[in-house]
Amino acid sequence: MRTPVIEREELFAKGTGESTDIVQKEMYAFTDKGGERITLRPEATPSMVRAFVEHALEQDLPCAKLYSLGPMFRYERPQKGRYRQFHQLDVEVFGIADPAVDAEVIEMACALLSALGIDAELVINSVGCEACRPRFSEALIAALGERVGELCGDCQRRATTNPLRIFDCKVPADQPIIDGLPHSEDFLCDACRDHFAGVKSHLDAYAIPYRLSHRLVRGLDYYTRTTFEMLGTGLGAQNALLGGGRYDHLVKRLGGPDRPGIGFAAGLERLVLALPEAAGEAEAADAFVVALGETAWPAARLLTRDLRRAGLATLIDYEGRSAKSQMKRANRSGVRHMLILGDDELASNQVTVKTMETGHQQSVSREALADHLRAAETD
Ligand code: AMP
Repeated sequence: MRTPVIEREELFAKGTGESTDIVQKEMYAFTDKGGERITLRPEATPSMVRAFVEHALEQDLPCAKLYSLGPMFRYERPQKGRYRQFHQLDVEVFGIADPAVDAEVIEMACALLSALGIDAELVINSVGCEACRPRFSEALIAALGERVGELCGDCQRRATTNPLRIFDCKVPADQPIIDGLPHSEDFLCDACRDHFAGVKSHLDAYAIPYRLSHRLVRGLDYYTRTTFEMLGTGLGAQNALLGGGRYDHLVKRLGGPDRPGIGFAAGLERLVLALPEAAGEAEAADAFVVALGETAWPAARLLTRDLRRAGLATLIDYEGRSAKSQMKRANRSGVRHMLILGDDELASNQVTVKTMETGHQQSVSREALADHLRAAETD
């Protein structure tokens, strides 16, 4: 799904949550020429839900599994891994409450990172539901008691708007107080406890290791039950590669049917920062076509086009350079094969293929050339 970069401001106030940092501090919101309050989207989930509801997609997709990819915008202090325009890969499932899908979504995130060669630690938690969370919030307030006044300004605000978010606090002076607070897992209702046990046992079945963290509440209002993050190594403070969770009331809250949801967003810039070194190196092309003499150029260009159409990355020179200079360039480009086309080759409908690594040369017919190069690639 591709949703617009601009949305109504109220979508995020209602979806992401009025009291969240994203809505309070980070949105690029403004009044447009028509006097409407609009914003550059700070995250994808509310937009995905809006589109799902607006186009009544639940009719065709009772169990919708969707993904999206695109730029997000947050007014934050830019630093390594934190930008004002960044890109997210967003995965959402609407319509499935079973914990098996939580584990499937997490497994997919793990598979993505492992395909990219990125090491990461999975952290999970359950933040409960509308039935049990109020009890937990009350317990937090009760445990804080008089000490609320000792916390930072943000936490004092959180204590009245959403006490769970106190666990997001990074202010060192607040930590001793936060360390003494009760844990969400001890306040889950039976249904949430069963759900969380289900998620953990499915993860165990996939042999996915995880760390439980009662502090993983994630900064958005809509989460219910499962929350998770994958943390990279060597990324400093901005080490969350992706984060997500379950949001069982968001579709309804944004005017849709009562459908549970779960999803995650991965930051593409952070994935790139976490890629192994070798992944940053550009891959060499498959072949470089060298035209010997004036008359060979048109055929050399057609050969290049045909090989590209056959899926082989093929280079050719421009500006009619000499054969010697073309060969030099072929050498420097790091290709596996140089394809030489002169009068003899044109007459016999052959191409001279030089394997750069060995210096070995052989004639291959034009028809067989693409297959020959592909076979050499898999050698
Ligand atoms: P969030 O929507 O805040 O849970 O973020 C999900 C993921 O998006 C994070 O784990 C990061 O990988 C990425 N992300 C969030 N904010 C930024 C930012 N300002 N710059 C770059 N990546 C970001």
